[in-house]
Amino acid sequence: MSDSRYDVIVLGAGMVGSASAAQLALRGVRVALVDRRGPGEETSYGNSGFMDAAAFMPHVMPRDLKTLIARATGRTPHVNVHVSMLPQLLGWFRRYWRESTPERVIAAATRLAPLAAHSVTEHHALAEKAGSRHLIRDTGVLRGYRLQATFDAAASDRDLLRRHGIEMRELDPAQLAELEPCLLPGLARALWHPKACHAVDPGALTKSYAALAQASGGRVVTGDAGTLARTANGWSVTTEHGPIRAPQVVVALGPWAKELLARFGVSVPIAIKRGYHLHYSLSGNSALSRPISESEVGYVLSPMAKGVRLTTGAEFADRDAAPTPLQLAACEPHARRLAPLDRPVEPTPWMGARPCSPDSAPIIDAMPGNPGMWFAGAHGHWGFGLGAVTGRLVAELVTAATPVVDPVPLGLGRFR
Ligand SMILES: Cc1cc2nc3c(=O)[nH]c(=O)nc-3n(C[C@H](O)[C@H](O)[C@H](O)COP(=O)(O)OP(=O)(O)OC[C@H]3O[C@@H](n4cnc5c(N)ncnc54)[C@H](O)[C@@H]3O)c2cc1C
Repeated sequence: MSDSRYDVIVLGAGMVGSASAAQLALRGVRVALVDRRGPGEETSYGNSGFMDAAAFMPHVMPRDLKTLIARATGRTPHVNVHVSMLPQLLGWFRRYWRESTPERVIAAATRLAPLAAHSVTEHHALAEKAGSRHLIRDTGVLRGYRLQATFDAAASDRDLLRRHGIEMRELDPAQLAELEPCLLPGLARALWHPKACHAVDPGALTKSYAALAQASGGRVVTGDAGTLARTANGWSVTTEHGPIRAPQVVVALGPWAKELLARFGVSVPIAIKRGYHLHYSLSGNSALSRPISESEVGYVLSPMAKGVRLTTGAEFADRDAAPTPLQLAACEPHARRLAPLDRPVEPTPWMGARPCSPDSAPIIDAMPGNPGMWFAGAHGHWGFGLGAVTGRLVAELVTAATPVVDPVPLGLGRFR
């Protein structure tokens, strides 16, 4: 076999593509992982690092008018909408609205829960093989509630999580202070998912999976996915080393996948929710052990190698429009009431883009009308944690092995 011939080309070396390439290479598949930059330098670099088997609760559009208006008009920092995008987003919002009824929420959670159940264990296993287990902290994650009323209002979500076997501990302020002494008082309640974990350097973990793919017989190459073309026997892509070919291709281009798929006649219902982060040092000798979110505001503080990373909620905007980090500015005073943040450790915020389906579940499927083409994406808020098990599922589908979960509920067919 020549150097330019592979069994599978994986396009995109974010968490999803890197884990897919590693899982394929570990199965003896000759795989090329193609990206235009280094692995894990886009969305998979800048997230909050959560890995949680509970990552199957869909993000929904509020159905009560008061909350909906507050969110839509930016009165809380959960959401920022670029008004210029509304005409383009109307169709997607309609689907999102439909997916937000209590019955559809249960259906969506049931669709994703089986995959999410493997998110932590698959990361542990892959990181072990990649020599990067030290980048994952098994401390659990916290959801904070400043108001008892908000905690009470989330009771049905907790019931649904429990029904799917998620372990949770409900903490009062004293128990929270014992678990996380650096937090400032003021939260009414917190929910601890003790079995969840987080990565302290999501980009480095992603790079370690790409390196594992290479060490297991695969190849990581620089190239432009935009050059993807059909050949007589499959697919070709131009790389810095010239064209490479394979009978199968996996599109794992995160927020860039939709345009490429459209070029091959496949329409995927994906909207972009941008998000921002900024790292801070903590004052004095304070240390935060695990990520915590504040439900009423919609941000996360996550302890990372670089400092405490403050990440924001959803910004509906053109993926490539200039950054508008209003949510970061709005969240910072709240975050300072929660933890003793000192100074930002970098001058400008990072911005990334979450590719989201209307029901919050990823799309992992063969692409209709394109023999040998697969898509793994639209993971929305959860693509980092779901990345390792998605990679496993992709490898199993591509090699026609028994899949870890039934892939049908995660297919494109659910939107038809
Ligand atoms: C603020 C924020 C916080 C988040 N927090 C979490 C969290 O705590 N837990 C969680 O699970 N998820 C979280 N997410 C979501 C998560 O980061 C994403 O779902 C995940 O990183 C998507 O991975 P990916 O591999 O699909 O995409 P990406 O990481 O974006 O990878 C796509 C790759 O495609 C490459 N590419 C694009 N175009 C081309 C081209 N033409 N040619 C070659 N290569 C190309 C890019 O360079 C990139 O490397 C968060 C996201 C944001 C924005």
